[in-house]
Amino acid sequence: MQYKYTNFVKNSKSMYRIIFLFLLISQGLVAQKLSKSDKALVGYLKAEVTYLASDELKGRRAGDSGETLASVFIADKFKELALLPKGDNGDYFQYFTVNDGKAIAPSTRLSINGLKLDSEIDFFPLANSLQGSSKGESSPDLHENGQPWLVDLAESLDENKSNPHFDINNLINDKLKSAKDKGASMVLFYNSTKEADVLKFDSKDRSEATPIPAAFLTSKGRDKYIKENNDTYFIDASLSVEPQTRKCKNVVGFLDNGAQYTVVIGAHYDHLGLGEDGNSMIRGGQPEIHNGADDNASGTASMIELAFQLKGNKAKQYNYLFIGFSAEELGLNGSKYFVENPTIPLNTVNYMINMDMVGRMNDSTKTITVGGYGTSPSWQSMIAAVKKKSFTIKFDSSGTGPSDHTSFYRKDIPVLFFFTGLHTDYHKPSDDADKINYVGMSQIVRFIQEMIQNDKTPNKLVFTKTREQQTSTSTRFSVSMGIMPDYSYGGTGVRVDGVSDNRPAKKAGILGGDVVKQLGDHKTSSVEAYMQALSKFKKGDKTTVVVVRGDKEINFEIVF
Ligand SMILES: [Zn+2]
Repeated sequence: MQYKYTNFVKNSKSMYRIIFLFLLISQGLVAQKLSKSDKALVGYLKAEVTYLASDELKGRRAGDSGETLASVFIADKFKELALLPKGDNGDYFQYFTVNDGKAIAPSTRLSINGLKLDSEIDFFPLANSLQGSSKGESSPDLHENGQPWLVDLAESLDENKSNPHFDINNLINDKLKSAKDKGASMVLFYNSTKEADVLKFDSKDRSEATPIPAAFLTSKGRDKYIKENNDTYFIDASLSVEPQTRKCKNVVGFLDNGAQYTVVIGAHYDHLGLGEDGNSMIRGGQPEIHNGADDNASGTASMIELAFQLKGNKAKQYNYLFIGFSAEELGLNGSKYFVENPTIPLNTVNYMINMDMVGRMNDSTKTITVGGYGTSPSWQSMIAAVKKKSFTIKFDSSGTGPSDHTSFYRKDIPVLFFFTGLHTDYHKPSDDADKINYVGMSQIVRFIQEMIQNDKTPNKLVFTKTREQQTSTSTRFSVSMGIMPDYSYGGTGVRVDGVSDNRPAKKAGILGGDVVKQLGDHKTSSVEAYMQALSKFKKGDKTTVVVVRGDKEINFEIVF
């Protein structure tokens, strides 16, 4: 599950402020004794969650070794069931890459007066540096056309000491623009004051490339190589920064009943690792393993157990495709990749069931949320036909939301999304296996199993479009544009995944696929920058949105 940029930790009441279509069905809550088979199911779920959420798997960060262990665990279960491998090369794994920020390219080098500086220790290229080489004479006091420049930031830093609006990145940008205008071929910044380094290499940088190549000499590099401001230095440099990727994998197994249509049952199995990707609720302090028992070892174990239940079942009216998605926490990357590169024809998919965070059923309220209720008119009767009612359902009609069903909904596939609710351990190291309600999980598994088995119609469900779910960010700002940002987008700007009806973006003419580059005077190089820009506006404000569509840049007038 990935609720991003929300403030619900600060205000635990707003955690539950997601707007649902409340349609409560009383399920006749009767305390039931567990049957023998249910007891066994509870045992299996517990064993699987306990392993997946153990420290050995180090938080199952997409692309890391813990993810591999988890993926092998799932694949072994699929093998035990003799499911058909539906990954890439005759096995269960479907590989894809995710952006992993930037790194200094090995070709980067810098020498001053013939002495080689150590990259990352003595200097580093700015993370958004234009790639390029330069050679020439330079003095901090004398800046010449066609030469690399040495620029001391000390004076500007001193001038802005008590300026609360001072932004070092703006200063660097301004200096680079003016250096380029005056013919500089490259700029090496440094700070001659004895203060700590004012810049560091930002591997997560997404801002636009600098107009000319630029690097920063650290205090170490400065002390070693820059003696006097009126000395002349011979500089020879080549600067390059490269994008990094991590290799991740979905785990895909097919239960082939020879039927015409297939039901997809999915759950993401990745989690936050040690919080390296900045999606933990805990900032600062020692990195800790985020075990992700509820998010989403619970859904993964439920998916595995549904495979076991359906394998031995007589209900063969559909085939079943079981998928453990990776990189959900980074922006639904695994499910997006799967629907773009499906290993069975997508037009044979009848519907998709997603389970994300199904391990925290509250024993006193006994209520779960089912999303996607509006994506097919058939859901009502299919859900009503389930006889074993162990909990109350709160319905959310929207086919979109903060998990993988969204990717299938966007391909016009009916979806249902099972979820037992947010809690104070959400995206924290304390989301542990001992806090899981395993009986509650088994009841959700039984519910889905019965619903699937009851469905004897050989036809595909009718798909209906729903409203976009309100993004939870709206609580933090007085205005919003009504777009769903694509969190998996790695380029500069905010790629629009979807546009809500009757909201400013839609009214202005912005479409899915557009990349928002600027909002008024504010560059929106990342979702975070976009959120900051939004916070500067209030209701009724008018501004211009700069959008890139294909290879064209278009301006839209927008009214909040
Ligand atoms: Zn999550």
